[in-house]
Amino acid sequence: MTNSKYRKDFPILSQLVHDKPLVFLDSANSSQKPLSVIETVSNYYLNDHANIHRGIYELSIRATKKFEDARLNIQKFINASSAHEIIFTSGTTAGINLIAQSFGKAFIKENDEIIISAMEHHSNIVPWQLLCEQTGAKLKIIPIFDNGELDLDSYKKLFNARTKIVSVVQASNVLGTINPIREMIKIAHENNVPVLVDGAQAIPHMPVDVSDLDCDFYVFSSHKAYGPTGIGVVYGKEKWLNRMPPYQGGGDMIETVSFEKSTYNKIPYKFEAGTPNIADVIGFSAAIDYMQQIGMKTIFQHEQTLLQYATQKLLEFPDVKIIGTANNKVGVIAFVLDHIHPHDIGTVLDYNGIAIRAGHHCAMPLMERFNIPACARASFGIYNDEKDVDALIEGIYAVKRWFN
Ligand code: PLP
Repeated sequence: MTNSKYRKDFPILSQLVHDKPLVFLDSANSSQKPLSVIETVSNYYLNDHANIHRGIYELSIRATKKFEDARLNIQKFINASSAHEIIFTSGTTAGINLIAQSFGKAFIKENDEIIISAMEHHSNIVPWQLLCEQTGAKLKIIPIFDNGELDLDSYKKLFNARTKIVSVVQASNVLGTINPIREMIKIAHENNVPVLVDGAQAIPHMPVDVSDLDCDFYVFSSHKAYGPTGIGVVYGKEKWLNRMPPYQGGGDMIETVSFEKSTYNKIPYKFEAGTPNIADVIGFSAAIDYMQQIGMKTIFQHEQTLLQYATQKLLEFPDVKIIGTANNKVGVIAFVLDHIHPHDIGTVLDYNGIAIRAGHHCAMPLMERFNIPACARASFGIYNDEKDVDALIEGIYAVKRWFN
């Protein structure tokens, strides 16, 4: 692989930063947007906007159709069995909070147990901690090995009669580890426990089939998958969603309202109170079209090639340590450099036009597990190529010159 032929689809990438061509290696944080997505959102506002589900005039009917077509597109993209199982939220974080609160209200009480893993993003830790504070339930943590793989034997031993849900990430935003979630879901189901999968770092990079995984819930964000910010999806099996109470109250989520009692709409609307982010739902659907035109297998392969190339190049530095060396990874490489703080790495790279992330990556317990306060992270999207990796390597030489 040489130049990515997809780079030209992303107008933002043609700019200079500090007089250097922009090298964007922070897609795990948020990806850039192809022109087709930008134009879809802009065309919607130019031609089609009105509020949805309530108008009886042409614009509203058109906007409603585009919005509901997006739901169908997403249903097909992840192979959910019904469009009613697709709920729009503002992102992965909002999705996990929705499930924690609504599932929690219906099914979790004092001394019940919730299993998460040691590699979770804060957004798959704190919503469960809030629920534990409210109910007196407890968190149980699946440990990880030094290479960044989950300890499945320990996982199996965490189940007991009080276990009510497992909530686990499919691909880690720091280690890059792709967890064997199909197997983990099977183990949970053998214990009659449902599973929520945090797919924020999987959806942009690999084919995902929720029916094949047999997960009970799956959440993801649009902005990491070439779509607009402020939109995300909760997939939930109908059998659970129907038994869960609404998360928020307001317009659209009701069937009838009186001061004595209100009744609620059917799913998914029961979970979509208020005017949704219509334009960005439609924009996300365009992002899904973009990914599908390339093909999720091609995207995965492209990023795997880059991951291998970058890993090999980084390992040539004796003072670089890669955090997360699992066999099965997405295109994410976290690393530390002896005696140089990750923020300093990030700053010097930025002078060279290279955008990476540095910090705790919203995974403070994971930093503690690996005994580091922070790390640097390069992550790939479809627009990256080997030239970007070469620029990163040159940039690390520049960092070392600067500080030594
Ligand atoms: N889960 C994982 C694995 C993530 O990487 C992120 C964001 O980095 C999130 C959840 C939260 O996503 P959002 O900020 O889009 O809600």
